[in-house]
Amino acid sequence: MKQGKVILVGAGPGDPGLLTIRGREALSGAEVVVYDRLVSPAILALIPSGVERIDVGKEASHHKVPQEEINRILLRKALEGKTVVRLKGGDPFVFGRGGEELELLAAQGVAFEEVPGITSAIAAAAYAGIPVTHRDYCSSLHIITGHQRAGKELSIDFEALVRTGGTLIFLMGVTAMPKIVEGLLQAGMDGGTPAAMVERGTTPSQRRCSATLSTLPEKAAEMGIRSPAIIIVGRVCSLAEDFCWFDRLPLRGRRYLVTRPRQRAGRLSDKLRRLGADVWEYPCIETVPILPCPAMDEALQQIGRYEWLVFTSPAGVSAFRTELTCMGRDGRYLAGVKLAAIGSGTAKALQEMGLTADYVPEVYDAAHLGEGLPADGRALILRAEIGSPALTEALRRRNISYDDIPVYRTVYANAQSPALRTALEAGEVPYAAFTSASTVKGFVSTVGEDADFSRVLGLCIGEQTAAEARKHGIPVRIAHRATIDALVELAVETAAPCEI
Ligand code: SAH
Repeated sequence: MKQGKVILVGAGPGDPGLLTIRGREALSGAEVVVYDRLVSPAILALIPSGVERIDVGKEASHHKVPQEEINRILLRKALEGKTVVRLKGGDPFVFGRGGEELELLAAQGVAFEEVPGITSAIAAAAYAGIPVTHRDYCSSLHIITGHQRAGKELSIDFEALVRTGGTLIFLMGVTAMPKIVEGLLQAGMDGGTPAAMVERGTTPSQRRCSATLSTLPEKAAEMGIRSPAIIIVGRVCSLAEDFCWFDRLPLRGRRYLVTRPRQRAGRLSDKLRRLGADVWEYPCIETVPILPCPAMDEALQQIGRYEWLVFTSPAGVSAFRTELTCMGRDGRYLAGVKLAAIGSGTAKALQEMGLTADYVPEVYDAAHLGEGLPADGRALILRAEIGSPALTEALRRRNISYDDIPVYRTVYANAQSPALRTALEAGEVPYAAFTSASTVKGFVSTVGEDADFSRVLGLCIGEQTAAEARKHGIPVRIAHRATIDALVELAVETAAPCEI
C-alpha cells in the first residue's frame, strides 16, 4: 500500500495571494485537507473538487474538535495511505500548535513535512503600514501570546519585555488587551508609546486602530475591535499613517460580485482583489460541454468543407479540444482551415492549443465578428446552445453560409439565494461584474426576477451583456473594450469614494 504522509501547511493570514507556492502545490496534490477556522474561504476555494475536506475549526455546540482528536484524524488518514494536508492559519509553528500535531506522527513513524506560512504577526502589521522593525526605532521583535487560560492570570514577564525596547506583538490578546496594557504601564513603559491593533489583517475587512499605549483600550472599545486581531506596541506604529498602502488601494472597501463560472472567475477576482476589492465569488452559470456531440463530430469529420472555424468563447474552444482529442487528432488535423475568435480571451484559449487565430474583430462582440469575418467559403461555428443571433444574422446578410453547432450548454448554477437578494436590496453589494449576457441571466434567476436591482451597478463587458442587464432594470456601465482588463479599469473608474 502507498505510504501516507502529512504536510503541515501555513495558509498565511487571509489574503489568498499570501499562500506560498509550495503550499499551493501541496494543496493540489492532497487527498484529504484538514483545516481550521482561520483559513480564508478564498484559500479553501483552491482545494481541488473531489478532495475530502475535514473542518476541525467548526465550533459544534461551542466546542472545537479537541486537539487530541485532530492529532488522531491526521494519524488515521495517513495510516490509510492518504496524502493529508493540514492547513493552518498564518504559520503552523507560530502559536499554531503545529509542533503538537507532529508529535504523534513522529512517534508513530508517519512521514511528514512542514511548509511555513506567512504569520499574521508580521503580515497584518505590514498591510496596516507598520514595519515590525525599523533601524531608527528598535533592535528586536517579540511575538507573545496574550491568551489567558480560564481563571488564570496572564503569565507574561512585562518587566523583561519593557527592558528590551523592541517591538511587541501580541497574538490571541483581544480579550486580555486592557490587562496587557496595564502590565506594560506598571512595568514602566511610557503611556505615550505608539500602539495599534489590526483586525482581520490582509483581508478586505481589515481595520486598524491606532493609539498610544494609554489610549488603546478606549479607542479599541470605541471601534469595537474583535478577534482575530494583533496588538502591536512600539515606536514603529507611528509609521502607519504614512505607510498604510493597503487602505489607499483604488477599490479598497468596495464589494464586487463576480458572476463568472467558477473555472474562469479566478483571473477577474484576483485582479480586483489586488486593487483592494472585497470580492464575492458567486458563480451564477456553469458551462457544460455537450458530450457526446454527434453534430460536432460529423462536422469535424468533413472539415475540408469549411473555410473558417469560428469560436465565440473559451468554453467553445475547450469543447472542441476535447472532441479533437477523442478523435485521436490534434491541431494538425485542421490543416488549411482558418480560425476566428470573438476576442482576446478566446484567442488565448486557442493559443494554449498551439493555434493562432487568423481573425479577431476590432470590437469583441458577436455582431462585429459576423460583420468582419473575411470569408468566401463556409463557416463552422462551435458555440453555446443558445448563442447570440447577432453573429448568424450578420453572416446571412452577407450571404456567407455556415453551420452553427451547439457544443456546450449554459447551466444556471445556483438555486435562488435569499441571502444574496437581501444583501443586494440593502445596497451591500454595490457592484456586480458581468462578462456575458448569460451571467446576467444566471444572476437574475439566482436573485429572483422580481427583485429590486436598482441599487447594484452592473459593470458589463460589452453591449449585448448590458442590453440583457437593462431588461431587468439593472443600471449599467460598459467597458470600453470587451476584455477583463478593461472591465477592471471600469471598476476603478466607477468606484465611488468610500470611508474605511
Ligand atoms: N499561526 C497563526 C496564529 C494562530 S493564533 C499565525 O501565524 O498567524 C491566532 C491569533 O492569530 C489570533 O488570535 C490573532 O491574534 C492572530 N491572527 C490570525 N489571523 C489574523 C488576521 N488575519 N489578522 C489579525 N490577527 C490575526
